[in-house]
Parts: sequence; C-alpha cells; structure tokens
Amino acid sequence: MAKKKQNTTGDGAAWLVLLLCLGFVAFSVYHARDHSPTSDTPKGTEPTETTQVHMQWADSDGLFSDDLFAPITEAPPTEPTTAPTTVAPTEAPTTISPTEPIGFSKDDPLLVLVNRDHPYEPSSPPALSNWKNSGIQVASVAYDALVAMLSAGEQQGLNFVVCSGYRSKELQEQLFNEDVDLRMSWGQSYEEAWANTALFTMPPGCSEHNTGLALDIVSLHNQHLDSTQEQTKETQWLQAHCWEYGFILRYPKDKRDVTGISYESWHYRYVGKAAAKYLTENSLTLEEYHAQQS
Ligand SMILES: [Zn+2]
Repeated sequence: MAKKKQNTTGDGAAWLVLLLCLGFVAFSVYHARDHSPTSDTPKGTEPTETTQVHMQWADSDGLFSDDLFAPITEAPPTEPTTAPTTVAPTEAPTTISPTEPIGFSKDDPLLVLVNRDHPYEPSSPPALSNWKNSGIQVASVAYDALVAMLSAGEQQGLNFVVCSGYRSKELQEQLFNEDVDLRMSWGQSYEEAWANTALFTMPPGCSEHNTGLALDIVSLHNQHLDSTQEQTKETQWLQAHCWEYGFILRYPKDKRDVTGISYESWHYRYVGKAAAKYLTENSLTLEEYHAQQS
C-alpha cells in the first residue's frame, strides 16, 4: 500500500510539473503577443497626423502621397520637419488687398479733377505764392511740400528747375491760340489746328496748371519737355520719391487712355501726402480715383 501510495504521490507530482510547464508556455505566448516590437500599437498611443507624415516620408524616400497628406502637399519634400510650419496665408492679405483711402476724400480741394471733361471752376481763385525769383507762382498750399521735395533731391546732388506752375485761364487761352495759329500757318484748317493742338495742350480752363497745384519740373542740365527728360537723374528721382512729399506723376506712361494726355515725365500734381501714397500704391490716376469713389 505504501508503495502504491508513493506511486500515487509521484503521479501527482508529475501532473503538477506538467501543469506548471503548460502555464509557463501560455504566459510566454501571451507576453510575446503584447510586447513584441512588431506588435500592433497599444491603445492610447496611436500616431498623430504629424508622426504619420514623418513615418510616411521616411518610408517612401521623400515622396508624399497627395491622397493621404493633402493638407501639407506644399511642404518641401527635402525638409519634412518644416512642413507643418508653412503658414503662408497669414502673409497674403497684406500684399493682395489694396489699402483703403484714409485721411482724404474726392471732395477735398486738393483732389479736384481737372481735364477736358472737367473744367476748373473754382468758387474763388487759388491762393498763390511766388516760387523764389522765377516769376512762377504755385498754389500756396503746395509750397512747403515743393520746398521739402526739391531740397531732399538737392541733398542727393540733384539740380531742379521748376519751369511752369500756375497759369491763369487767360494765359492758357493765349498759349493755346498761339499753338493753333502756328498749325494754321502750316496749312491746317482752324478745326484741324484746334484738334491737333488739343492733343498736346489743354483747352483754356481744362488745364491743371489753372489750379496752381500742377508743376512742371525738369533737370537743370536738360530742360526739354520731351522723351529725353525721363532719362535725367532728377526726373528719375522725382518719379520715385514725389509721393513721399504729396505729389503724383499726373500723366504716367501707361495711362494715356485714361488721362487722355500723352506721357509727361515732368508734370507733377500736388494732392497731399495721404492721397499721393494711396494713389501711388494702387497705381491710380485722379480719373480712376474719382471714378472709383463716385
Ligand atoms: Zn504741366
């Protein structure tokens, strides 16, 4: 009996060992499934979109898929770490949207529109100031700005001549008629001479020079009102900087169809600093500005 009991005890020990072995194997398999480096990602630590991007980039040698990563397709493939920081849209509005007119209006006397269709008809003559000892008069309201502008240019070694400023309606009429007479002496009829003169000279009352706000300014070394004027340093400087002092180039090269006047590189018009800045930044003539505001 004792021997049989020993056998029974031995069988029990063998079963216990077998069960322990099975338990160990089962534990090992379970452990391997949940902690292997190639296992599924544990809950709570799923890759974010950013980490997916970098994983994808690394896996595909720099080639992104538009379908999977459309929001960042503009990121440079060679610099994947900078992709999420490309936020160009914040800069776009400052360069695309035009500035709004502030500090002036179309009814401001400084912005009066004078052309063939809009004769100058002031309620009172403009206040005028003599320009040095030249015999030329300019609108008093523009005088200080003119001094500031030309002084700034002179400090750059430039030399200017203000060759025309205010013209009375009577003087404009006299100049216009002299031009008509000259053309008639060439054999043109009065109508032809008048029409051809009007191509280059405003009819009386339709010239900006009647306001005193318009000035013809040239180089001391080239006082010709022709196509050579724009090649002078003085004219190039004025065209680049006049807006800073409240002046605009009134008849630009590319606006002939709008102004009805051929390009005049020497003719500047005082409109005040705020308006000059606005018109220049937006490439607007006075005709376009008034049309925009009406
Ligand atoms: Zn002029």
